[in-house]
Amino acid sequence: MEKVVVIGTGCAGLTAGLYTARANLNPLIITGMLPGGLLTTTSIVENYPGFPEGIDGYELMSRMQKQAERFGAKVKFGSVEAVDLSKQPFVLSVDDEKIESETIIIASGAGHRHLGLESEDKLERKGVTYCATCDGALPLFRNQPLVVVGGGDSACEEATFLTRFGSVVYLVHRRDKLRACKIMAERTLNHAKIKPIWDSVVTEVLDVKADKVIGVRLKNLKTQKESILACAGVFVAIGQIPNTQLFKGVIDMDSNGYIIPKEGTMTNVPGVFVALGCAAAIDAERYLAARNE
Ligand code: NAP
Repeated sequence: MEKVVVIGTGCAGLTAGLYTARANLNPLIITGMLPGGLLTTTSIVENYPGFPEGIDGYELMSRMQKQAERFGAKVKFGSVEAVDLSKQPFVLSVDDEKIESETIIIASGAGHRHLGLESEDKLERKGVTYCATCDGALPLFRNQPLVVVGGGDSACEEATFLTRFGSVVYLVHRRDKLRACKIMAERTLNHAKIKPIWDSVVTEVLDVKADKVIGVRLKNLKTQKESILACAGVFVAIGQIPNTQLFKGVIDMDSNGYIIPKEGTMTNVPGVFVALGCAAAIDAERYLAARNE
């Protein structure tokens, strides 16, 4: 039986793994389908303290994993398919294997938010993508007009990255002001190859019949006017949704699916913590110490 199972290998999960490993708890960290988490799909991370020149997202996560393993964390590739939190020890089903644990730290992160269009789903991987770093260099996008949807840091980062490949990058945002931080917004809007399209949403990705992306149907939210913009790729960068479906009905969460912590990192189930980096690890360690006293 494990003392601690950490679900997720993003920054929060690996930090929780590092701290519980250094507390001699030999944590088991389950990777999920994307080891290293969403940060591995980004290019340069510029706002992680300690790396003044920035660091590649994949490199950062590899280093974090090595650091946790150095102190005894075990990293297991797999996805948690079910959890039974009704009694101690908790039981996790990971790819048909049952794992028992005294505590669980949830650091399952988030997945990409979709626009919610039928045409978007049908053309995913046929020109619709959620990751410029993963797909931007594909031949189908080279020297073609590309569309990025969103107005946050992710959209700005994707758009800037895609200028390496596309002939022009249209940044379609539903408002007339970017949500991205000032430095990212300025860099994006000052780029000669990036053309913002304000107050607009994508209402359809064209063309499902052609089985590839040839454009998008846009709607201007101020004028209600529709237009068609030719492009070879649609990069959706409109934020994330938390991967907490496993815990629905058992762990208290808000209407957006974010777990509601109480008293620091504790959830409504004693022994189950939600990772806020090292804080959840320290709480799990204290909980185990109190149980063993
Ligand atoms: P975000 O900040 O939540 O921005 C999401 C953007 O998508 C917003 O502009 C939002 O519009 C728009 N949006 C949301 N739902 C939409 C919909 N259904 N249709 C059309 N547009 C929609 O998400 P994010 O950009 O992924 O960033 C998440 C976090 O990661 C942020 O804290 C960010 O600072 C951080 N991040 C940092 C870096 C970096 O520093 N290198 C890179 C990427 C992300 P509204 O503005 O109108 O709400």
